[in-house]
Amino acid sequence: MFKELKILRHHGKQYIKDLRKQSISPLFRGRPLISGKISEEEIRAAAAVCPVRAIDSSSGSIDLGRCVFCKECAFLLPESIGFTNDYRIACNDRNDLIIKPGDNNLVKINEKKIRKEIREIFKGALKLRQVSAGGDNSCEMELAASCNVNFDLGRYGIDFVASPRHADGIVITGPISVNMSRALELTYEAIPEPKIIILAGTDAISSGIFEGSPAIDRRFPEKHHIDLFVPGNPVHPLTFINGIMDLLGIRK
Ligand code: SF4
Repeated sequence: MFKELKILRHHGKQYIKDLRKQSISPLFRGRPLISGKISEEEIRAAAAVCPVRAIDSSSGSIDLGRCVFCKECAFLLPESIGFTNDYRIACNDRNDLIIKPGDNNLVKINEKKIRKEIREIFKGALKLRQVSAGGDNSCEMELAASCNVNFDLGRYGIDFVASPRHADGIVITGPISVNMSRALELTYEAIPEPKIIILAGTDAISSGIFEGSPAIDRRFPEKHHIDLFVPGNPVHPLTFINGIMDLLGIRK
């Protein structure tokens, strides 16, 4: 008995108390910072090493929806490009994932673009069905971690469910392979209205390194309104959790 109590005391509190303010390793690659003084030559060099065309070769901006956070650009130009450990990079406007040189603004949800019914209906409880559409299981593992004892997303009534008929929305991971496109559409159709669509991870947002592959079918995200983009390769649980909390208007 005393032994168990001693272990419990040693472990301390297992859950993260404030998911909004949790500090994170400085090694984490989050929101990038690009110097406003970056030269055209440097931009061209950085764009050339980027494996996924995330750097615009004329403006020097970085698209977080494409970036795989390999940091090759920052290794090449440490004076001009860096990555902060700011994990709050989810948003609902695809254009807000473009980080321009000299830009040090936080990535935020655009309140005006949130569908009215989302906050009216789902603020107290949100059930999500996850579909791995050709994913590599990395984002899937991080999403599962969102519900573990540390992150405990369930404290806000937000959970993953097995059936789309019990879900309020869909969380898509992976670049959406041809073989999964029909299954994805069927899953989406089975969810009752109004349904939320979340793209989690670089692959889901832009197809990442698989862009242009004949094995990829991007018709689903092109056809449907996307409620939340969660960048990351893979996504960090705190990025996902904070993105959903912002979308639902949960402050703490
Ligand atoms: S960190 Fe992102 S922008 Fe930089 S080279 Fe890698 S993928 Fe491209």
